[in-house]
Amino acid sequence: MSICPVCGIADWASVYRIGRWDIGECKACGFARIDPMPDRELRAEFYSEEKVVSRNTKEQTASQRFSRSMKRFFSRIGGRSKSGIFYDKLSHYLSAGSKILDLGCGDGSFLRSAKRCFLCTGVEISGYLAGLAKDKGGIKVINGNFLEMEIGEKFDGITMISLLEHLDDPAKALKICFGLLNRNGVLLIKTINYGCLNRMIKRESWSGFRPPDHMVYFTPRNLKQLLEKAGFAGIKVSAWPFNDNMYCDAHKIG
Ligand SMILES: [Zn+2]
Repeated sequence: MSICPVCGIADWASVYRIGRWDIGECKACGFARIDPMPDRELRAEFYSEEKVVSRNTKEQTASQRFSRSMKRFFSRIGGRSKSGIFYDKLSHYLSAGSKILDLGCGDGSFLRSAKRCFLCTGVEISGYLAGLAKDKGGIKVINGNFLEMEIGEKFDGITMISLLEHLDDPAKALKICFGLLNRNGVLLIKTINYGCLNRMIKRESWSGFRPPDHMVYFTPRNLKQLLEKAGFAGIKVSAWPFNDNMYCDAHKIG
């Protein structure tokens, strides 16, 4: 196995076995990833129309249905949808009319609310979802893998909402984000939290484990480390023990 993208050390422990995959954990920093990593060429195929539609319409188990309805309930009483959280954060850091890039924009649901205030661009690997995002209008949508493309302009804010865990090269991804930001720009991330108590209690049956779709798993500490390595500063990670996800704000200073 190769070196850890966070700390550069090559000392892995195989901690879980899920289907055909091992979850390898870096003994030095706790970063985890699936082994073997899937071929990058197969990624676009994974997000084709048939695959996306069939995954989303698959029979849900009773426990998945329960968990989804609980999430909807809590977001209603908290009054904070996922899009709402990111819209509020962008409005806090940036002025109206700022340029926003949403990486992994899916069907454009977040950009549809962000475009009220910001100039919006989205990148989406799935041609099917990129097409849905374009149809909503008012958003520039680029279809492809942002790890392999030249975007050619800079932005004031970048959002990665539930994307980082799907990337086979998170170190490169964060460096690209740093390069795409204007000075004083902000990167906002939501990703799964490998350090949460749910993972420690549920082990192999933790809902965050979804190989080969979820390839890399961060804790708040090693996510901060990798962001610093990419050049970011003023990093704030918000994580809660029983929440499978964490949120992170990182800045390009000066
Ligand atoms: Zn490491």
